[in-house]
Amino acid sequence: MANDFDVIVVGAGMAGSAAAIRLAQGGANVLLLERGAAPGVKNLSGGILWGHDLDRILPGWWHEMPVERHIVRKRFGFLTSDSAVSFDFDDATWRKEPYVAHSVLRAKTDAWLAQKAEEAGATVVSSVPVDRLNWEGPRVHGVVQGGETMTAPVTILADGANSRLALGTPIRPQPRLEAGATELGIKEVFRLDAARIEERFQLGPGEGHAEEWVAGQFAPGVMGGGFLYTNADTISVGLILNIQSLYGRGVYSQELIEQFRLHPTIAARLKDAELVEYGAKLISSGWASRPAAFHGDGWMVAGDAAGFVFSNGLVIQGMNYAIRTGLEAAETALTSEKAGDASATHLAQYDQRLESSGVLSDFRDFEKMDRVKWNPRFYTAYPRFATELFHALMTETGDRKRPIRRVLRKARKAAGLSTATLLKDGVGMVRDL
Ligand SMILES: Cc1cc2nc3c(=O)[nH]c(=O)nc-3n(C[C@H](O)[C@H](O)[C@H](O)COP(=O)(O)OP(=O)(O)OC[C@H]3O[C@@H](n4cnc5c(N)ncnc54)[C@H](O)[C@@H]3O)c2cc1C
Repeated sequence: MANDFDVIVVGAGMAGSAAAIRLAQGGANVLLLERGAAPGVKNLSGGILWGHDLDRILPGWWHEMPVERHIVRKRFGFLTSDSAVSFDFDDATWRKEPYVAHSVLRAKTDAWLAQKAEEAGATVVSSVPVDRLNWEGPRVHGVVQGGETMTAPVTILADGANSRLALGTPIRPQPRLEAGATELGIKEVFRLDAARIEERFQLGPGEGHAEEWVAGQFAPGVMGGGFLYTNADTISVGLILNIQSLYGRGVYSQELIEQFRLHPTIAARLKDAELVEYGAKLISSGWASRPAAFHGDGWMVAGDAAGFVFSNGLVIQGMNYAIRTGLEAAETALTSEKAGDASATHLAQYDQRLESSGVLSDFRDFEKMDRVKWNPRFYTAYPRFATELFHALMTETGDRKRPIRRVLRKARKAAGLSTATLLKDGVGMVRDL
């Protein structure tokens, strides 16, 4: 029986649209289905896009894509209830083309990417929430929506972190929302004139500033990090929270983002800015949230749906992996079409591509990272230690000066850190990172 399409891609996020563009460029008859009213309306990222993988399909993409600003500086630091210690990284190469990273707003970028897929020849249809995969025994043969079956020898699942289509199937027999591998992302967007953003953050036109904070100001036990990214005429502010650490503490995510926003360091950056958008989304990151397999008879899974989000407390990167894995799935589907073979044996090339492109090693190598990232001391004792230390080193009180080793000891004691704990955490970091 003839198929309706060569390939069906579910989800017009970064993974799905990148895959659809490559497939259409390769001559495949591809259908890209999106449940949202338009691509991007349901998608949320912080978001810093490390988009170099896009060069493979759209050379010089940043000239045309509606990006916000190219990032020239990153700040990383610790917050306590009223203080902050931070480090800036200003890299001269980031100021030059090809820029390494851009701030983006997904409603704009994803709509643009889906349009590029359409221009390349893909059929893109929005407002279509796919109900389920069309299983024929062990094989996936397209998708089912509203009682209608659309067939293709290969289906690429790029339906994001909450991939319902995979749940309870051989792709993901068990729910993956184990608390350890699941984070809650919350984001607010504030409007502020471009000129004021540039003045406030000491940026040239088009330049962007990104900052990420270990949020040490919350109730003990609550673990999370905050971010602030400058867009063209808005500022994105948000939190990534360890869900498990919120259980039973009587704290709510909206209170936490308010606390973050009202911290004196963050509030100063948002002065006179007006809240225009709010969103929240689950993040399933790392090796622990991978599916039972990345491919099978007639299917492959890419992007967040496969758990390809890298988050180490300093950075959160998912869009780049979504693009790369979407492209590797597309390349595999193109060879499958040529060979007339969509069996699991042929699609195993996808795993080989994930391996050779470094995706699998990135996630395997950092499997134990969560033990470091979710060490409660990084959200209480270490921010306190850093601010006590720098307070003592930077403040002239007229009192007798003390040798630095004594200042260090005093800060360590104030933060409740024993030498043994410092050593233990240091060894753990070396072992697990
Ligand atoms: C708060 C927050 C901050 C983040 N910050 C960053 C950052 O700064 N940098 C970075 O690189 N990453 C960041 N990430 C991660 C990044 O957003 C994701 O890794 C990325 O969006 C994954 O892209 P995707 O295409 O796999 O999935 P998604 O972007 O989630 O796209 C999935 C698409 O599938 C559609 N879909 C779902 N189900 C169906 C269905 N049944 N039928 C049809 N369509 C369907 C959805 O509507 C959606 O359009 C952040 C995430 C969060 C939550």
